[in-house]
Amino acid sequence: MGATNNSNSTSRQSRYNGWSWPPHPFQPIAWGCLIYLSIFYFSTIEPGLLQPGRIAGYAVMGLLLVIHFVVHILACTVNPADPNVIRKMEGKKRQEMPTFDRTKHKHVIENQHCYLCDVNVADKSKHCSACNKCVSNFDHHCKWLNNCVGDRNYRLFIATLVTAIAGAIIIVSLCLMQFVAYFTDRNSGSLLQQYRDALALPTSSTGNVTVMSTPPPVSITTAANYSGKTSPVPTAQKPVFRVLWVVVSDRLWLAMVMLTALLALTGMGLLGHLLGFHVYLMYRGISTYEYVVQLREKAEKEAREKQMEGGKIELANSKSSKVCSNGRNKTHGIFILSCAYHVHMCTL
Ligand SMILES: [Zn+2]
Ligand SMILES: [Zn+2]
Repeated sequence: MGATNNSNSTSRQSRYNGWSWPPHPFQPIAWGCLIYLSIFYFSTIEPGLLQPGRIAGYAVMGLLLVIHFVVHILACTVNPADPNVIRKMEGKKRQEMPTFDRTKHKHVIENQHCYLCDVNVADKSKHCSACNKCVSNFDHHCKWLNNCVGDRNYRLFIATLVTAIAGAIIIVSLCLMQFVAYFTDRNSGSLLQQYRDALALPTSSTGNVTVMSTPPPVSITTAANYSGKTSPVPTAQKPVFRVLWVVVSDRLWLAMVMLTALLALTGMGLLGHLLGFHVYLMYRGISTYEYVVQLREKAEKEAREKQMEGGKIELANSKSSKVCSNGRNKTHGIFILSCAYHVHMCTL
């Protein structure tokens, strides 16, 4: 009794939270992408926005990032262990975990007692092999947080997803808008601040764009060739594009905007898929762990049924049954692999 997701633990210390050593390779990747996208937004995308959109862009993205960093850090920092495990961890700071002895016990947790943590645990607590401790209301071990997700940090995990997706949507939308504006806004300066600056179109001190009555927006070529003596026409210059506050060529700016849009789009897709999966789990009222167990039981049931069918065939034709059996194992393997892949992608 008492399902476990680990039976191969070796003698080693349990992890306290997402900051415990060693970090999972996904963790620095996640933080690297997050920091890059934040810096790129404020250094490269934001300066291209016109007022008053620029102020809104600073406020919305600034607030979103602060909330995201807070919930992301908290989701990593919270120790999601079972209350009895936490009490024991606080009592003995550097305790060694014993090795699970299969000859003595069938499961790590039996009758709500974990033989590795050596404490009684709650009904839905499971022993995580990565953290080497029992986690309260275990959902899954998140490689990106490098921490388990249980009832103590599940809401923080969902908030991390939601704020990351919202930020990615804003970045993708603005990158695409600026990419299109690069080709369409050159003569009007109504979308890109770089073109507005090049056309020398003014912006009011209150942040509102001043609409010019005379002359109407002019093209760079027209303005460059303009030679009127009493000209109120602003002088057009070459637009200046910056990436990470450094002046670069138009092409490099364009390439970086598109690459960043692709990066944010990839993150948006993966995180959106993961959030959709958790909305589905919430609708069904089950955890990721329970979903995996259901998949495994379903696969095992199907394998047993096919094995029974195979047995009948074997009686009829022992030679051909060997071929059938190989086929069954292959199908079963692919099924398990697709389930594992699905869960892996959903619980990145
Ligand atoms: Zn345990
Ligand atoms: Zn874990």
